[in-house]
Amino acid sequence: MHTTDNNKEVSYLLTIKGLVQGVGFRPFVYKLANKLNIKGWIKNTNYAVIVHAQGIPDDVESFIKLLSEQNPPASIIDEILKEKTQLKKLQGFNIGSSEVVSDDITVISPDISVCDECLDDMHNQPRRIFYPLVNCCNCGPRFTIIKGLPYDREQTTMQQFEMCNSCREEYYNPLDRRFHAQPVSCNDCGPSYTLNTRTVSYTDIHKILDYLKKKLHKGGIFAFKGTGGFHLACDAMNEEALVRMRLLKKRDTKPFAVMFRDLNILKKYAFVSAKEEEELLSFRKPIVILKEHKHLAPSVTLKLGTIGAMLPYMPFHYLLFDQLGLDALVMTSGNISDEPIIIDNSHAINIFLNSTDGVLTYNRDIYNRTDDSVIMVVNSKSRIIRRSRGYVPSEINLQIKTDGIFAAGAELTGTFCIGKDNHVIPSQYFGDLQNAENFNFYVESFGRYKELFRFKPSHAVVDMHPDYVTTRFANELGIRVESIQHHHAHIASVIAEHHIEEPVIGVAFDGTGYGTDGNIWGSEFLVCSGIKFERFAHFKYISLPGGDKAVLEPWRTAVSYLNNVFGYDFLNLNIPFIKNLDKSKIRLLLEAANKGINSPLSCSAGRLFDAVAAVTGICSQPTFHAEAPMRLEAAINYQADGHYSFIFDNDGIIDFSQLWEEIIRDLINKVSKNDISSKFHKTIVEVIVSTCFKIRESTGINSVAISGGTFQNRYLLEKCENILGQNLFKVFTNNKVPSNDGGIALGQLFIAAKKR
Ligand code: ZN
Ligand code: ZN
Ligand code: FE
Repeated sequence: MHTTDNNKEVSYLLTIKGLVQGVGFRPFVYKLANKLNIKGWIKNTNYAVIVHAQGIPDDVESFIKLLSEQNPPASIIDEILKEKTQLKKLQGFNIGSSEVVSDDITVISPDISVCDECLDDMHNQPRRIFYPLVNCCNCGPRFTIIKGLPYDREQTTMQQFEMCNSCREEYYNPLDRRFHAQPVSCNDCGPSYTLNTRTVSYTDIHKILDYLKKKLHKGGIFAFKGTGGFHLACDAMNEEALVRMRLLKKRDTKPFAVMFRDLNILKKYAFVSAKEEEELLSFRKPIVILKEHKHLAPSVTLKLGTIGAMLPYMPFHYLLFDQLGLDALVMTSGNISDEPIIIDNSHAINIFLNSTDGVLTYNRDIYNRTDDSVIMVVNSKSRIIRRSRGYVPSEINLQIKTDGIFAAGAELTGTFCIGKDNHVIPSQYFGDLQNAENFNFYVESFGRYKELFRFKPSHAVVDMHPDYVTTRFANELGIRVESIQHHHAHIASVIAEHHIEEPVIGVAFDGTGYGTDGNIWGSEFLVCSGIKFERFAHFKYISLPGGDKAVLEPWRTAVSYLNNVFGYDFLNLNIPFIKNLDKSKIRLLLEAANKGINSPLSCSAGRLFDAVAAVTGICSQPTFHAEAPMRLEAAINYQADGHYSFIFDNDGIIDFSQLWEEIIRDLINKVSKNDISSKFHKTIVEVIVSTCFKIRESTGINSVAISGGTFQNRYLLEKCENILGQNLFKVFTNNKVPSNDGGIALGQLFIAAKKR
């Protein structure tokens, strides 16, 4: 190595790729350059941010280092390419403002929660005092307001609002925090809020806040327009209000999400680990599933022992909590019966004005609908359950060509993916696509993604299930369609996320997925090398009397399991579950099942969890999706010892006859439900670990990919990851997409791209 004269300048051309546009990146670089005496310029191009950096070697080196260490919170740097370039005669550092907006920006920022500086402006900057839509380069709405590219104001729902002179000055000043912040606005020129009630309406923010305070304290319910759609809100401690809220939401019986005033107050109600705290405070502001510490009103959490908690993320949320003096508000999606979250002001007024105490709107449109995202932290790693606001439309780098591929996803948890260059852009969450409104949302969004990302589908990938609405939709596009087995796609989603090159042991457990033999799969041990898979083991098939009805009525699966193990004699078992059954109905049901009438074969892990929840009396009549396994998990006695037995036969069939005999014996001996749940969960962990051992022995494969909705069970995921890890397996799980069917599209797209 030769020595350089430290006073001699060096010059580099830096190509910075990633999410670096529309997130306050250029002002950050500009300030950093000035601080470190770097001369040169910065400009946006269609594929990256380009920086010319010139200065003495030490300064340039720390400049490059700090670029990726101190970058704005919402920016993501994929790579910085560094190329030596000729020294130029330069004066200071400039922002190439003439090339501010390029023609083909492919990376669009997700929505970003309000930043501290803007909150400060909301209290101190005269034009923005109490301005509930304050934002800057580092914060504010993005994806939800964007209609087209390039990302500038004319292509957003801010288009109708003309900037006042003061806002304009900020917008054009490269040193200002609002330099080219597209939604920039203030009290003088921007959108504003209106509170509509049956009797009066208010547009003055102080009057609005007074009214909300008065009514919310008395158990009022309001619809609030949020970032990606409306919320329904009420005091999280007021049971009466919550009962009304349940009625209002009709068939939606899931636990409600809660927004806490701040982190300290949240910590009174829930346990928060360091990683959970980081997520709660992140710019994405997701709902984080936390362990409950102190009870809210019973109708919020439904005795599941967890709280879906989030912190304020819009300026308005802060204004409200500042005035309100309440610890927490339920903030649930503003929709009825699991339909899409409402985004339109007049629609919200139509639906909610008469049934609530008021509808709070603002006059900036939401263009792209997003729900609050939901995550949980297991083993200090974040797991996405619902990927929407704050995450979309962030892309995932696949490192293989994906252009033109459309992956349609599954059905129960609808999402799709589109391929662009080496990337995948996953859509937001659409909910259950059997609901026609949700499916319309899916179709509409597909149209918007095509336009926004200039995506031309040439090849579709679907689930093997012939009746999924997504399969039918893709078949009508008039392009080549390829189908992928459901659990193969689950495992491929993990392979794609982690760029795994070697073959893996795939463990895919879930409620349902169409198998290559036409049966319902869901307890799959696959040996998978990207595009190919082999089924190594699974649970023994049982019939599901009544087919789809078994999902809503777990007693059906329970009856089938017991009949399988004990024959008709199971009807004489001396346990409460049997006593409560309508015996005449059961005989008919089983006769039909024996003849194979409306009784498909299934090996689903989800159904086994259902059956155990039913037989133990923990949950026999679920009111929302996956309630039975959730209640079974919530019942675990973590101190209990022991587990049940199972048989692994040589054909790779895992038989639970012994487990059922032992559970029945425990029930007769009055062993507590909590102990039974613990022993059951330990058995499933044992099944997974011992089967992975068997596969390793016979194939030499040491990497395990775990996916499928069943792994939203915290206990199961935590134990499997830990025990497999302790036994020197390399364990991979989903972190960027959900392990539930919301992650299927990524797996589908990956397999198709890899095959091509
Ligand atoms: Zn800000
Ligand atoms: Zn203004
Ligand atoms: Fe699945």
